[in-house]
Amino acid sequence: MERRKFGATGCHLSVFTLGTMRFLNGWDAPHDHLPEESIENAHSVITAALKAGINHIETARSYGKSEGLIGQVLSHLDIPRSNLVITTKAQPTETAAEMRKNLEESLRLLGLNRVDLFALHGLNNQQRHDLAMRPGGCLAALQQAQREGLIGAIGFSSHAPLPLLLTTIATRAFAFVNLHYNFFRQENRAAVDLATALGMGVFIISPNEKGGLLYQPPPKLAQLTHPLHPVHFNERWLLSQPQVHTLSLGLSLPQHMDIHLESLNPRPFWQGNERQIQADLIQALSRSPLQRCGPCRLCLPCPVQIDIPTVLRLKHLRDTLDMDHFARFRYEMMQPDDHWIPGARGHLCTRCGDCLARCPQALPIADLVRQAHHEFSL
Ligand code: SF4
Ligand code: SF4
Repeated sequence: MERRKFGATGCHLSVFTLGTMRFLNGWDAPHDHLPEESIENAHSVITAALKAGINHIETARSYGKSEGLIGQVLSHLDIPRSNLVITTKAQPTETAAEMRKNLEESLRLLGLNRVDLFALHGLNNQQRHDLAMRPGGCLAALQQAQREGLIGAIGFSSHAPLPLLLTTIATRAFAFVNLHYNFFRQENRAAVDLATALGMGVFIISPNEKGGLLYQPPPKLAQLTHPLHPVHFNERWLLSQPQVHTLSLGLSLPQHMDIHLESLNPRPFWQGNERQIQADLIQALSRSPLQRCGPCRLCLPCPVQIDIPTVLRLKHLRDTLDMDHFARFRYEMMQPDDHWIPGARGHLCTRCGDCLARCPQALPIADLVRQAHHEFSL
């Protein structure tokens, strides 16, 4: 499997990364209890990934049993440590001491004396960004650990909207970024470009599952990307961009690796039928006025906290590519006070009109968000 230089981190990563939040019973409490069947499942998934050529395994402090299961499996695999790149993440903490404790716990569970990459997990809003950047706080703890050789490079992961992503990248405090970006969600392109310009590694979060539930595509989407599976089109579209270094795959069974290997056809992306597929997709997307809704976000803030651009993006995918299942999946996860997928539901729109006056595309936003709520809630 092709490996790419992961920015200035000193690592070379396989173009696919094994994401490890879906091990069997991986979220069941207590997290320090590792049932035999979970260890067997983690072993089969990790060995399938390594056999396929993956050298990067990613986990997090908050992924239930994941770090413990990885530690168990690695302790029984005869693999030189230098052949693996291990990333873990921890959410920003109030104090440096708390972050140090997190790191030490991760190392203990993973059975390692060093992680290659450590990310501050989920710098999703200004509050979490500020907490991460607080002088003498959790980032300082990680920088100290890096000086001690416990961490190779420090990065961050984020589900934040583009302006905050750009702000965090521009701090130059991080060597890599883990973010959402794929064919069906291109508004973060400027963040990928800025990270590239600053020499950072670019790691894509779940481009097929959270990116569009592409493993079970609607017939219309499958037809539009035929003869490629939408997963293949999306992965090949991403990997045709040299600034994209690795894509996270959240495998729960070893056979889930197979579909991704088919994306690694050595034929260059644009020499096949991808050009026509992309043109057909763009044409389908352009059949809705929502195609004009870009990442400008001038409609925000909404007084009742509706994340208008996200609701309209989901409606656009539903209206043009029949991605109804995906739109509902993401819409149902939206919560006003949740920093992972924030936002109130469209039926709460009061028709105050604030957004209408600010939208350069003159979209009838109040009607659209209410209609989207009706469609996603049927
Ligand atoms: S202001 Fe209009 S075009 Fe811009 S994100 Fe909001 S709805 Fe879309
Ligand atoms: S019209 Fe509706 S969506 Fe627009 S700002 Fe007011 S409440 Fe929010």
